[in-house]
Amino acid sequence: MVLSKTASESDISVHSTFASRYVRTSLPRFKMAENSIPKEAAYQIINDELMLDGNPRLNLASFVTTWMEPECDKLMMDAINKNYVDMDEYPVTTELQNRCVNMIAHLFNAPLGESEAAVGVGTVGSSEAIMLAGLAFKRKWQNKRKAQGLPFDKPNIVTGANVQVCWEKFANYFEVELKEVKLREGYYVMDPVKAVELVDENTICVAAILGSTLNGEFEDVKLLNDLLIEKNKQTGWDTPIHVDAASGGFIAPFIYPELEWDFRLPLVKSINVSGHKYGLVYAGIGWVIWRTKQDLPDELIFHINYLGADQPTFTLNFSKGSSQIIAQYYQLIRLGFEGYQNVMENCRQNAVVLKQGLEKTGRFNIVSKDIGVPLVAFSLNDNSRYNEFEVSDMLRRFGWIVPAYTMPADAQHVTVLRVVIREDFSRTLAERLVFDICKVLHELDALSSKISAKREENGKNGTVVKKTALQTQREITDVWKKFVLARKTQVIC
Ligand SMILES: *Cc1c(COP(=O)(O)O)cnc(C)c1O
Repeated sequence: MVLSKTASESDISVHSTFASRYVRTSLPRFKMAENSIPKEAAYQIINDELMLDGNPRLNLASFVTTWMEPECDKLMMDAINKNYVDMDEYPVTTELQNRCVNMIAHLFNAPLGESEAAVGVGTVGSSEAIMLAGLAFKRKWQNKRKAQGLPFDKPNIVTGANVQVCWEKFANYFEVELKEVKLREGYYVMDPVKAVELVDENTICVAAILGSTLNGEFEDVKLLNDLLIEKNKQTGWDTPIHVDAASGGFIAPFIYPELEWDFRLPLVKSINVSGHKYGLVYAGIGWVIWRTKQDLPDELIFHINYLGADQPTFTLNFSKGSSQIIAQYYQLIRLGFEGYQNVMENCRQNAVVLKQGLEKTGRFNIVSKDIGVPLVAFSLNDNSRYNEFEVSDMLRRFGWIVPAYTMPADAQHVTVLRVVIREDFSRTLAERLVFDICKVLHELDALSSKISAKREENGKNGTVVKKTALQTQREITDVWKKFVLARKTQVIC
């Protein structure tokens, strides 16, 4: 997306080294060139420029799959020219999607009879899935309020302040107030007691997260369900629950099968999961499953007569690729329950290796949980000399992409680093990362003692008398930035 950008002189054309074998002139960056260029040149120019992207395998910031088997890559390439929406022309792709929906619904314990079909749809990701689920709740609530002759213009949704940004988008785009339960230091998920307190007659649903984006922790959906049943009994409302299982939906069923978070709980009416996270497919697929037909208002389903047949659809977009659906089906049949269980168990174990390695340094406080999404979130025990952002920046030098971020209200004073453990993050990489983190700490230690020695000297000469904590912090950051930039340049050159 481009909102605004002023181009500098050097910015207006794209130069390329090897492509100069084919084309001598540079290409305008933001305007279409007058003439065509050879296909080899186009390839070379783009390929050269893309080299400067980070390495997806070392991108520990993301939950999204970065590796699949070559057989699946092949299936995806073979299907790249198939539009998913042409269901009549590609009935097999449609059928594969339906099989995936049913398999996932069973995985989430949807109350289905022997031959009963599940209700759900493949989406571009959990964000689209959440928009659809949210719309269904909003419409159901509105219909009920209308029927009761009650006002239906102020819907709200209750979540924790730790929700992923797509919930804020949903609230904004579909005009639903987001009522957030605040976090506190040491507790980074939605407190079910407080959530139920926020519920009122205008609440379309409470959204719980299975696998908080911030620290991977599973919210207590069972407690939420039990408390909400009580509240519904007292008030006569029937406030439902949605579970945002974007990351945890493909983890809990395999390695925490006893954990009750899904359709086993009566108030859970819909669940979303990202196929491209622990569903093990490349970016571009998510799923939303409804408990029963009654939980998805029929009026939201479009029955289109497109190129010959009646097709029910409930998606935000029309055309999209088929490859991701085919890839999801591949993973489900290729791995089976056993395979997913092995992958998830492996991720869990590698998370333990990383966590223990970090604990051994004695420098970090771990804020992720043993039961949850396999990730390690951690903060510095002592961030008075340098902070988590600086550790993150320094790790880039080794190629690691480890994000640092502050927690939402009311824990915004806490900063964490987060490493997501995906299937392709091996034990060797975990050990290597601990090693590199130690090196970074070492360098930052040395740097900060240099700065304080210098400060002491200045103090002696009477040049600097007293500084506020803020000034000191700024000074450290400045020196540190220069240091990192100098190093970075060295590496790139
Ligand atoms: C990743 C994530 C989302 C958004 O999912 P996409 O599939 O990237 O659209 C929503 N909620 C949670 C909890 C997530 O982890």
